[in-house]
Amino acid sequence: MQAGCLLVFVVGWSSIAVAVAIALYLIRMFAVTGFYHRYFGHRSYTMSRSMQFAGALLGATAVQRGALWWAAHHRKHHRSSDDEGDPHSPHLHGFWYSQVGWFVTRGAWRTDMSQVKDFAKYPELVWLDRHDRVVPTVLLLLLAVLGGLLERFYPELGTSASQMVVWGFCISTTVLFHVTASINTIAHLFGRRVWPTRDQSRNSFLLALLTLGEGWHNNHHWHPGSVQQGFRWWQIDITYYVLRAMAVVGLVSGIKPLPDRVRR
Ligand SMILES: [Zn+2]
Ligand SMILES: [Zn+2]
Repeated sequence: MQAGCLLVFVVGWSSIAVAVAIALYLIRMFAVTGFYHRYFGHRSYTMSRSMQFAGALLGATAVQRGALWWAAHHRKHHRSSDDEGDPHSPHLHGFWYSQVGWFVTRGAWRTDMSQVKDFAKYPELVWLDRHDRVVPTVLLLLLAVLGGLLERFYPELGTSASQMVVWGFCISTTVLFHVTASINTIAHLFGRRVWPTRDQSRNSFLLALLTLGEGWHNNHHWHPGSVQQGFRWWQIDITYYVLRAMAVVGLVSGIKPLPDRVRR
């Protein structure tokens, strides 16, 4: 997929292809932080079984494997952050292994169901986890069809099936992956440590903007059960605002706020 980004020199660019890449980045980043991380990883709020499936389905478009696999690895990360057993610590394994190596090693391939017993009882989630290539493949095909239709009916937009695949799938997904993974690496190396956690997690304003709120990583390690990761008003946390809005219209519920003792 990363190599596929180089095809941009063959297919070129158009405003519509770049716009689709950015939109897919934002939607899927929300799916990763709002659903994969804060829901499947930490259960910091609740939702119905159908919404839970929709969240896992949308998350699967991020090409970061199934919700159960993602949550199982993430729970291990919290259990032993920057210590023996952490799947990705730049302090133990080095930068590149923690950025991308751990994701593609054989040892990390299977889902450790003992870490996610609470969700492993739902057959639809297990199916998505086991067949984790299906949703990304469907996304890729939909992008090709979209590009093909636009090329045929709106040739003035200057796009094509191959251009839409390169921008919407390869480039958008690669950037999404590396920005997500930078929470495992950069947010454990650079930035401010406000809370005396046992790990090396840090807060980063820039990463918080790029990841829709995950950059407040030292906050998050201090209180992982809170759906809110920006603790102060200026700590922008888009995912939290969106989840609050979803709670207002009844799509999610039981949002666990930051406890008063932590806020004080
Ligand atoms: Zn961390
Ligand atoms: Zn977490």
